[in-house]
Amino acid sequence: MVFFEINNPGLFLLCVVIFFAAVFLRYMVSAGIFYWYFYKLKSEEFSSKRLSKRGFRKGQLKKEIYWSMWSSVIFGFFGALTYFLWQKGFTAIYLEPDKFGYWYIPASFILLSLLHETYYYWVHRWMHHPKVFRKIHKVHHDSLVPSPWTAFSFHPWESLLEALIVPAILLVLPVHPVVIGIYLIFMTLSSVINHLDIEVYPKAFIKSRFGKLFIGATHHHLHHAEFKTNFGLYFTFWDRLMNTESRTEISSE
Ligand SMILES: [Zn+2]
Ligand SMILES: [Zn+2]
Repeated sequence: MVFFEINNPGLFLLCVVIFFAAVFLRYMVSAGIFYWYFYKLKSEEFSSKRLSKRGFRKGQLKKEIYWSMWSSVIFGFFGALTYFLWQKGFTAIYLEPDKFGYWYIPASFILLSLLHETYYYWVHRWMHHPKVFRKIHKVHHDSLVPSPWTAFSFHPWESLLEALIVPAILLVLPVHPVVIGIYLIFMTLSSVINHLDIEVYPKAFIKSRFGKLFIGATHHHLHHAEFKTNFGLYFTFWDRLMNTESRTEISSE
């Protein structure tokens, strides 16, 4: 099943443009809906629930969209590259949903997120090394107060590091294209939610043992405020294991 075969550089470029458009649109729609709802439509209700005590910097949101556009170019390139590698038979992507049993479909999603988490945690720790931080990770932290638009706001070097990992995993881990699609949407939504600066998960969930395994807006807000804590992506286990989880208690009332 091949929609169109990439057999020359022009078609590859076209594929990059298509993937870029899809990634950027996904970002604009996801961040846009959350921004519109929490910061425009219900702004009065949620302004008191903001996790940060200060507001956004002047011109911050525009800058975030600008950097996110470049991130989408890089993500688009890796999307096209993965599609090309799949066509050439270099990936472990499979098409028959029952090839490994139906149980493997959710299992592959969980495996993909755990591998991604591990890579991200350690690369993120490395990006906070003073020598590396300024060149690679500072753009993301210019957003002292995160916003939904911060979700993809990275310097191109950071986008490159972030874009590499999922295609690299797909070279070895069998994953169905539908799982990849859902994973990419999940990745974007989780990044938007974690940068919202308003906690959207119910308090009972966050305080529960199960809820404490996951990262939300409160957890990631503390990373942007404290820099030296809460390096995780979706899960808290690496931060807990490595003792980098923030001890700051937030009462979002
Ligand atoms: Zn960071
Ligand atoms: Zn962030």
